[in-house]
Amino acid sequence: MAKTKFVYFFGNRAAEGDGTMKELLGGKGAGLAEMTKIGLPVPSGFTITTEVCDLYYKNGKKYPDGLKDEVSKNLKQLEKITGKQLGNPSDPLLVSVRSGAPVSMPGMMETILNLGLTDISVEGLAKKTGNRRFALDAYRRFIMMYGSIAMGIDRELFDRSFKDIKESITRRRLDLKASQKVGDTDVNEAELEALIKEFKSIYKKHIGKDFPQDPVEQLWGATNAVFGSWMAEKAVTYRKVEKLFGVKGTAVNIVQMVFGNKGDTSGTGVCFTRDPNTGENVFYGDYLVNAQGEDVVAGIRTPIKLSEFQKKDPKAYKQLCDVRKTLETHYKDMQDLEFTVEQGKLYMLQCRTGKRSPAAAFRIAVDMVGEKLINKDTAISRIRTSDIEGLFYPAIDKSQTTELRNTFLVQGIDAVPGAACGKVCFSAAMAESLAERNERVILVRKETSPEDVGGMHAAQGILTATGGKTSHAAVVARGWGKCCIVGCEKLSIDYDAKVFHVGNVAVKEGDFITLDGSTGNVYVGELKLVAPKLPASYETLMSWADAARQIKIRTNADTPYDAENARKLGAEGIGLCRTEHMFFDSEERILAIRQMIIADTIEARKKALAKLLPFQTKDFEGIFKAMDGYGVTIRLIDPPLHEFVPHDAEGQEALAKAAGVSFETVKERVEKLHEANPMLGHRGCRLAITYPEILEMQVSAIMTAACNVAKKGIKVQPEIMIPLVIDAKELSILETLTRKTADGILAKEKAKIEYKVGTMIETPRAALLADEIATVGEFFSFGTNDLTQMTMGISRDDAGKFLPDYVSEQKTGIFRNDPFQSLDQAGVGLLIQMAIEKGRSTRPTLKVGICGEHGGDSQSVKFCCKVGMDYVSASPFRVPVSRLAAAQAAIEQRAPVAKKSVASALKTASVKKPAVKKAVADKPAVAKKPAVAKKPVAAKKPVAAKKPVAAKKPAVAKKVTTKK
Ligand code: ADP
Ligand code: MG
Ligand code: MG
Repeated sequence: MAKTKFVYFFGNRAAEGDGTMKELLGGKGAGLAEMTKIGLPVPSGFTITTEVCDLYYKNGKKYPDGLKDEVSKNLKQLEKITGKQLGNPSDPLLVSVRSGAPVSMPGMMETILNLGLTDISVEGLAKKTGNRRFALDAYRRFIMMYGSIAMGIDRELFDRSFKDIKESITRRRLDLKASQKVGDTDVNEAELEALIKEFKSIYKKHIGKDFPQDPVEQLWGATNAVFGSWMAEKAVTYRKVEKLFGVKGTAVNIVQMVFGNKGDTSGTGVCFTRDPNTGENVFYGDYLVNAQGEDVVAGIRTPIKLSEFQKKDPKAYKQLCDVRKTLETHYKDMQDLEFTVEQGKLYMLQCRTGKRSPAAAFRIAVDMVGEKLINKDTAISRIRTSDIEGLFYPAIDKSQTTELRNTFLVQGIDAVPGAACGKVCFSAAMAESLAERNERVILVRKETSPEDVGGMHAAQGILTATGGKTSHAAVVARGWGKCCIVGCEKLSIDYDAKVFHVGNVAVKEGDFITLDGSTGNVYVGELKLVAPKLPASYETLMSWADAARQIKIRTNADTPYDAENARKLGAEGIGLCRTEHMFFDSEERILAIRQMIIADTIEARKKALAKLLPFQTKDFEGIFKAMDGYGVTIRLIDPPLHEFVPHDAEGQEALAKAAGVSFETVKERVEKLHEANPMLGHRGCRLAITYPEILEMQVSAIMTAACNVAKKGIKVQPEIMIPLVIDAKELSILETLTRKTADGILAKEKAKIEYKVGTMIETPRAALLADEIATVGEFFSFGTNDLTQMTMGISRDDAGKFLPDYVSEQKTGIFRNDPFQSLDQAGVGLLIQMAIEKGRSTRPTLKVGICGEHGGDSQSVKFCCKVGMDYVSASPFRVPVSRLAAAQAAIEQRAPVAKKSVASALKTASVKKPAVKKAVADKPAVAKKPAVAKKPVAAKKPVAAKKPVAAKKPAVAKKVTTKK
């Protein structure tokens, strides 16, 4: 076996790795290698692979054999290229030791700068550079970073001691007024010397040993720290929140230091090749003069904009602009860059694909197609579900002009757009605990740090007193599309008293504030929020997506209002209209259904149902109108009847009075409805088997509505859906009754309307016997909420108690996702796939869709595409998500690489053909028919005579699929 390579070198325009090796070298290492290769100015260095991190943890925190040798060989190489040696007393090599995982985890892990400085080499650096202040400044930073990050000393101790010196000695020397601030750069050599002494004694006091004077010991200490940070709580939490599973570990990058703290022609910065908030093609970023490394990211000082940088140092700025151009052309995507200028010369320290706001994601993708950098497929594939969700985040309702004026408090830096409103919380823990109780919160901090991610995630919005647009808070919030305002310097926060002041206004923990992330404005109190305007690029990109996708997107809507909304969001029909929701709409309706339920004779029941009929008819008319010619799938009554009746004595008394029966009768009837397992009880089509008159009323309402709407010249396509079916004969009985009723109405109204009768597939038995069921039902709609419950034997209502344990990677990692949110492709998916194949084997024209929550989940939608569904149906606000996911699925299926993933997605299903749809379509329908005749079902049924119906069908089915 070839020896595993643990270390990859880069320098002198050559690199052993490249940009494709993120998995092994981490994002940072791969980026540094790639930038080196394409000739950008990158300081030399080497990367220890993520595999070493993996092995380190697998072997009880021991490094693999051979690593030390490889590191020292690479170190020699670095010394050769740079002409400096680590620890050399007259001209020492200094390095940074930087973490870098395959996926970006902003600020999650640690980096140590200026490594290699010792009491002796610091003097060498001073002499060599002719700048002793600079050398001492680098040394004090190093001791602090090494002490806190590598050795775990509380950083606060170092900060305090720095502040003490600044406030006492420096302030006195400069004779500053109380209102004037002492800056880091005001501290002189003597004071830095005193500080270093102080820092070393802090180190010794806490570690029990002197600060290490051997650079190699320092190097391994720092490397240990980087690997250690991989399993630090904040990093683990971040991976959990971001659902980053299966990442091997972090790499360690050892990079020659370049210095941004060498005076006014030096500095350090962070920038994006386009505006990450709007997506506009403008250069965007922050720059700090005479500063090093993390000063920008940590948001300790408020930096200047790139436009000011250009004025201050046009030559350095020009170098940066060239790099911007090179990198965008090279990567064909917006990049997030970290750089340092050392005495006028630019060095690139990092590049990665930039996180962007949802609006920017659309704009950049569309613009880049226009610029011919990428094609439409790539543009579509780059949009994430969260980008779409983010676009629909609320904005402040600007019509509240008086309130806006009266409640305006302060303005900060507009870091991430959108608006948020909630109760002020000063700690991440508080934010999390309030959010758990479904309270909306705003996290208010001086600055955020990686420890705060949990609370940041839980909050509606984030407000910080310090930091620029690239501070930790801004970067993390942007990734989530979460409203964020930073650098709000007028904010004075008192964590102990749990209050912040702006001038003489005090805002306490628990008080409401409203943030406008698009302007940076903060308001006191609760302002009304509205849905934002979608950017033009959204429409453009979604039209490309619609052209790319192969399946239809419908919506789950129960009211004309929802139906209209969904149409606006791009729905092409209703995949699930739940009729029972209408019953709760008014007192009159609920009384009518209750009377129907407590009725003990069929006449009484029919009388009550007759009262419901006009209501249902009216609702369906509204829905048919809203869908204007698209198909509307209406599900007949589904929940168990006990859900409609009052369970308290008071309510029962009232019902008795209204219905003109005795209280005892009502009470007794309600008690009879009690079921031990209502989910598995008397519900769905079982109700219609017992009480066919309910079905008759509902079908009458549907068809009457259809006739009324059709008379107005609007096309209607009713699809009557029978829920919870377990057997073909069961369905056949109900289908016969449905058709008899429907045809009766059509005859009475002298109308000709094509309608379909189909079923939900939501019990495992229905899926298993799908071929038989499809001889009766003209369409299948997978009700994956129930199908998941019944396949797994997990009640969705009770799952909260234990399902989190199954999903938690730390605890068990049994499931990667909550199966009620993202379809269990291995199990439930297998049933679905089989049911589709079986169903189409007896009815090639069978129309298939999904109407569970999963229809709005991106991964599940992609699965539905792969198994050959005709449509997915999602709740109105998820419709755009489904449109995009369906387009991405089509693109993946077209691409050669995607074939593999299709195969692996279906691997568990042990089927050979991803092209379910095509295979079926190729078969002549007749060929399949004999199989039907063989089925025992056919024998059981007089329904067999009905077959001509199925034969007629193709015409209808074609109409549906050709309709845009
Ligand atoms: P992060 O992953 O948190 O961005 P980095 O490893 O990129 O951490 O380091 C943070 C900052 O430290 C960089 O943006 C850069 O300014 C500074 N830095 C890192 N390595 C060097 C180096 N070799 N020379 C100068 N500055 C460096
Ligand atoms: Mg960085
Ligand atoms: Mg159901």
